[in-house]
Amino acid sequence: MSTESVQPVEDFRLRAREWLAENMPRLEDRDASLDDPENDDASWARTKELQRKLWDGGFAGIGFPREYGGLGLTREHQRAFSAESAPYEMPLRINVPTLAICAATILDMGSEQQKRDRIGGALRGDELMVQFLSEPRGGSDLAGVTTKAERDGDVWILNGAKIWSSGAYAADYGLCLVRTDWSVPKHAGLTMFLVPVKAPGVTIRRIRQVNGSTEFCEEFFDDVMLPADAVVGEVNGGWAVASRQLYWERTAMGGGSPYISGVGRGIASAADQPLQALARAVGRVDDPKVRELIGESRANHLVQDHLVRRVMAGLAGGHLPGPSASMTRLFHAETDWRDSDIRLEIAGGAAVTGPVGDHGPGQVGEFFLNRQAGSLGGGSTEMARNVISERVLGMPREYAADRDVPFNQVEQGRA
Ligand SMILES: Cc1cc2nc3c(=O)[nH]c(=O)nc-3n(C[C@H](O)[C@H](O)[C@H](O)COP(=O)(O)OP(=O)(O)OC[C@H]3O[C@@H](n4cnc5c(N)ncnc54)[C@H](O)[C@@H]3O)c2cc1C
Repeated sequence: MSTESVQPVEDFRLRAREWLAENMPRLEDRDASLDDPENDDASWARTKELQRKLWDGGFAGIGFPREYGGLGLTREHQRAFSAESAPYEMPLRINVPTLAICAATILDMGSEQQKRDRIGGALRGDELMVQFLSEPRGGSDLAGVTTKAERDGDVWILNGAKIWSSGAYAADYGLCLVRTDWSVPKHAGLTMFLVPVKAPGVTIRRIRQVNGSTEFCEEFFDDVMLPADAVVGEVNGGWAVASRQLYWERTAMGGGSPYISGVGRGIASAADQPLQALARAVGRVDDPKVRELIGESRANHLVQDHLVRRVMAGLAGGHLPGPSASMTRLFHAETDWRDSDIRLEIAGGAAVTGPVGDHGPGQVGEFFLNRQAGSLGGGSTEMARNVISERVLGMPREYAADRDVPFNQVEQGRA
């Protein structure tokens, strides 16, 4: 895109402000029942409807290239739009993983057809994507996956199981990392496939958590037939695709994705609950200890914002290596975790006994049950620390008994 044709950020901001006011529903009018885990299907339908509105209004995919349906604009345009969109209901659930992780990976690693079909489908609000990475035997050792695909003439036959896939029941396609060659070391025998979630042979089971959420799924693949063009990247080159996907995942989890629209998360969470309002609700807004806690949280978020900008600028300018995105991912998780604790300290007993609806103090207790999720989703913080120490700071690699060993000779499970 030529620089002459880029609309100045401030003009874009004003155009977005006007359009949002005329077209997007205001947050205060939002149907609160859409946050209820039991009402999940309606929530996803609403997400698609809102994304379609963005598309029809010419505001979908601000950072995606024009040839794939986006606007081809800069991060500054994206930030301006997100800031303007704060008072409105936005299709936040489509941001992660569909746009910020899956579409971003396809943009970097997919075929021309995949880019046109899948990125376009997501930006129009027609399709959702998910990640089929983790397996029941362990998500951290991603290169150790045992779900497999075997070639049979023109097609691939997929068998195995994945787990902890967020929102898979609502999705249309999953980026699925599988083993296609067992005779080479673990990183060399992997292939990434785009699997249609509703294909014959795919069984999805929703997992019910202690907080009532059924967002997570496990999937079973029984002789699922995939055409050759379902491969993303190269056959047996899946680790390169997965590495790019992890990069985008860390970037999204750290709050630095150029591909999201809107601020906040897809579903109501602890981070959406203003601390001042909570302190007021429990009658502690003048308590010096509470004011200190609110200040601590504010400071953490300011540091996080600066860290994200600095790391993203370093990555864009090539001054920092790709794995540096783990720094923002780690800091984000730590801030989230601390915020959860701070909320509990402020709410005290009301976290358990207080009203739950409309961000009432009782929701603090409910969110607390889910507090560790941010330290696991997007790869655990222990793994982020490993990445930072080994690939950013250059410290020695941790011992791995399966390094350079053909995967079919690696001992699996316990002897
Ligand atoms: C909110 C959320 C959303 C998620 N969404 C998805 C999704 O959409 N798709 C998907 O595929 N998965 C998803 N996951 C799964 C997630 O990626 C895994 O939970 C994560 O990678 C950890 O894997 P595991 O649970 O199998 O733990 P394990 O790998 O069994 O690890 C257990 C513990 O040991 C630690 N550990 C393991 N190996 C090491 C090591 N070498 N060094 C130091 N510590 C280590 C881990 O950090 C962890 O604390 C999601 C998880 C959450 C919580």
